Amino acid sequence: MKIQRNNLSIILIASALGVAALAVVQVIWMRHSWQLSEEIFSQRVSMALCSTIKTYQGGTLCAGGKCAVTGTSGNLALKNVSHLPVGLVDKPDFRAELDKTLLFYQIDTGYQLSLSRTKKCQPDVYQTAILLPSLGGDEAYLSMRFPNKKTFILKSMNVMMLATAIILFFITAVLLFVNWSLMKQKRLLQTNVDFFNNMAHEFRTPLSNIGLAVNMLTKKHNELKDSRLVDVIRQENKLLLQEVERVLHLAKVENGDYVLEKELISIETILETAVNGMAMPLATHQAKITLEGIPQYTNVLGDKQHLVNVFRNLIDNALKYSKERPIIHISAKTEHKGIVVTVHDNGIGIPTEHRKLIFEKFQRIPQGNQHTQKGFGLGLAYVKSMIELHKGFVRVGSEENRGSRFEVFLPTV
Ligand code: ADP
Repeated sequence: MKIQRNNLSIILIASALGVAALAVVQVIWMRHSWQLSEEIFSQRVSMALCSTIKTYQGGTLCAGGKCAVTGTSGNLALKNVSHLPVGLVDKPDFRAELDKTLLFYQIDTGYQLSLSRTKKCQPDVYQTAILLPSLGGDEAYLSMRFPNKKTFILKSMNVMMLATAIILFFITAVLLFVNWSLMKQKRLLQTNVDFFNNMAHEFRTPLSNIGLAVNMLTKKHNELKDSRLVDVIRQENKLLLQEVERVLHLAKVENGDYVLEKELISIETILETAVNGMAMPLATHQAKITLEGIPQYTNVLGDKQHLVNVFRNLIDNALKYSKERPIIHISAKTEHKGIVVTVHDNGIGIPTEHRKLIFEKFQRIPQGNQHTQKGFGLGLAYVKSMIELHKGFVRVGSEENRGSRFEVFLPTV
């Protein structure tokens, strides 16, 4: 069996894309929060400047109390503020007042102050226009710069960045671990499957030899012809050989190197051959089988042997999984570009939750530890893979305890 290599690659690519997308989202989010932090910083500085000027020397310097401070644009004017001395920037009490207010607004980083006659329209310069009587009522500009502003903002975002990095790292580590374990499981499964397929291959020759030997034995010793024991050997040998063939067929199909021997064949012939081939088991189970609405001249291009086997498998299951006398109804309906053959039985039915699984290899519906019917769970996997090789599909409908209905679609020619 080729383990779903594609699925694994998809999981790997999807998780890598997921982590990349998460990282991109985080970067966008961090940039956004950087801008937000810068804005908050500007607002706090503005408020601190404004509040300092208003309260400095009991507010006497602030005439009208109207206050506005520029950020990077330097475009706002602080009106109605007067009497600020030119040497203001060096005054220890002004500095102390400003420091206190900045701390109140949680701005704890060094700054530079300057006074100028002109506006400084520079980024990262916070300005307030002030009116100085010493300058004859002209506007002057008090400017503030924070040389370590970026480091300060970065520090305030430290926890967030660290948390983001840890979460990203954690998610990446988990995804890497999941992918690594998946690959390990895949390798292990592949080894098991290869071993199983090799074993089946090795069993084929001895089983065929046992069959040949039994035939020769009964030819040589005529009295053994009707022996019950010989019959048991023959039957069990046939059963084992059939399962081995199924395993090998499925392995070939999954490896993509199975070649069908296609011919033009009618649906009617396929179904009749399948039913006739099942005459013995049908009689043993005292089953009633009906064929209805089978079109006479509807042909498919397919491998006769395998298509017959498909319907034999479905009939065989209908016999195996029924508690009462089996009643099997086979019908057909032409559809657009194909035909749907339905095999309906009155058996035990298939619970909804198992319907998808039964087409997988080795899947049997759990019945506790007891399995009243023999089988390896390969029959329906074979049916599905063969029908899909013929570009058809198979689906199942069922009512628990009231029977199952298998529908096989095959393209017609
Ligand atoms: P096996 O018969 O060897 O177990 P299959 O692949 O043919 O393997 O079937 C898988 C499982 O699906 C069976 O074990 C059985 O439980 C269920 N099943 C298949 N066909 C029928 C049916 N006609 N009615 C009820 N259950 C069925």
